[in-house]
Amino acid sequence: MPDTTRNAVQAYFRQQAELGMPGYIFGSDVLSGIQSGAAVPGTRPASLPGQPAGDSYEAKRRALVELYRATENCHNCPLDDTRTKYVFGAGNAEANLMIIGEAPGEDEDRQGVPFVGAAGQLLTKMLAAIDLDRRKDVFITNILKCRPPGNRNPSDAEAEACAGILARQIEIIAPAALLLLGRVAAHRLLGRTESLAKLRGEKLDYKGIPVVITYHPAALLRNPQWKRPAYEDLQRLQAMLKEP
Ligand code: SF4
Repeated sequence: MPDTTRNAVQAYFRQQAELGMPGYIFGSDVLSGIQSGAAVPGTRPASLPGQPAGDSYEAKRRALVELYRATENCHNCPLDDTRTKYVFGAGNAEANLMIIGEAPGEDEDRQGVPFVGAAGQLLTKMLAAIDLDRRKDVFITNILKCRPPGNRNPSDAEAEACAGILARQIEIIAPAALLLLGRVAAHRLLGRTESLAKLRGEKLDYKGIPVVITYHPAALLRNPQWKRPAYEDLQRLQAMLKEP
């Protein structure tokens, strides 16, 4: 295994631990498996109870690790030149809820982890408000896996180049629902062009998976008057996740 790949995986593992997600996807067993090139057995960490271990979880975790390994050095668009770190996503491989934002920002680009910094802290609080624990109940990622310079919106070419990674993540995790954060995520994933206000009121799905759209936490920090409608979106999501 090349040193650069080992360093990237080790950095990601450290970052997951800092976020309170020790070994949840890239556990020490997986890390050693990656480093040695051997088969990865995988075990569910005892520190994160609440979901039964099983073949499905291990298969999904392994598939995510394989996807990470296959894409961490992606050069499919020009953002490979300007990124500091590739930001694959983080969370539970068998989450009922996948959360999808727009693209890594400055903090994410530096740390290689999605939704850190002030917007990330607000997202953690938003999830807690509907009884979801960011450390174990969700998988969080973005439309783009590398930061656009200056946090500009993704271009059409960048979004198209990166779409396959997200599509495969959704396919592997097969969540019960998707939460899309902001207009860009909604437009890119659903192929729609209407305003966020209009899309929030619609019953939507992505390949049969129910979708809820709400404001991006960074937008909520700038526009606190939107927190009330965002909370209503989250309550709809909570009710959706409780449906059989
Ligand atoms: S943004 Fe996506 S397509 Fe572009 S280099 Fe990064 S991983 Fe590859």
